Parts: sequence; structure tokens; C-alpha cells
Amino acid sequence: MGEKILVVEDNELNLKLFCDLLRAHGYQVEPVRDGREALDRARAFVPQLVIMDIQMPWISGLELTEQMKADAELSPIPIMAVTAYAAKGDEDRIRAAGAEGYVAKPISLLRFIGAVRDLLAPAPAEAMPAIEATPPDIAEHAQGPRSSL
Ligand code: MN
Repeated sequence: MGEKILVVEDNELNLKLFCDLLRAHGYQVEPVRDGREALDRARAFVPQLVIMDIQMPWISGLELTEQMKADAELSPIPIMAVTAYAAKGDEDRIRAAGAEGYVAKPISLLRFIGAVRDLLAPAPAEAMPAIEATPPDIAEHAQGPRSSL
């Protein structure tokens, strides 16, 4: 089973689009239509990623992002913000609130899935240092071929 993704989006068509797309890529999705339920649902579902619409009634995705990042239990979960406004400074405000990723509407489906994969992938800084590793097959062949022609 794929990773669990909580999708917080008030627009029914966008919510269906995101959830269908993520399911088609093997992810387990949990839709949340009302931002006021987002934190409780995140605690119950324990997702590996949250996709967060910014423009919502009652509570904005920006406020929810700040609340999640102030919560010891929820703060480690990466947040991918989705916003209809691509105005200058929006990405800065969203990142300042603590979101790890940002995609502007209208959504390119390839970019959307690419951003999801990037956020679910382990951090590159934790990758193994490849320079010091000697592949075993090279070490074996260092003594020369076993068969002579
Ligand atoms: Mn919205």
C-alpha cells in the first residue's frame, strides 16, 4: 500500500481531482472538506503528507499550516500547500507558515504528482555518501579476469 495522504480542500471538484489522481498513483487518501476538522482528522489518520488548500471558509490553509507546525505530534508531517493565488509573496508567506511544498493553481497534474513524490522521498542530505563506497563487483574484478583466453 502507498503512503497515506490527507487532502484538505473545500472545493468538491478539486478534492475529487486530487483524490482520484493520488489513488491512481497508489496512495491512500483521506479527504477533508472542512478545514475546521483538519487537525483532528490528521491526528486520527496519521498521514505521511498533507495537501492543504489555502483559500477555504472558516479557517485558511495558512492558519492550519501554522497550527500544525506548532503541534508537536503533527509538525513532522510535510505540508504541500495548494493555492489559487500566484501573487508575488504568496509562496514566501506559505513557506514562512511552515509548508514544505507549494503548488499554484491551475494545477499541472505532472507537477502535482512530482511535488508529492519529492515531499515523500527521504531527504537528499541523508543519502549515503557514494564516493567512498566501492561496488563489490569492481573489487572482485580488480584482481583480473579468472579465465584467460
Ligand atoms: Mn478553496
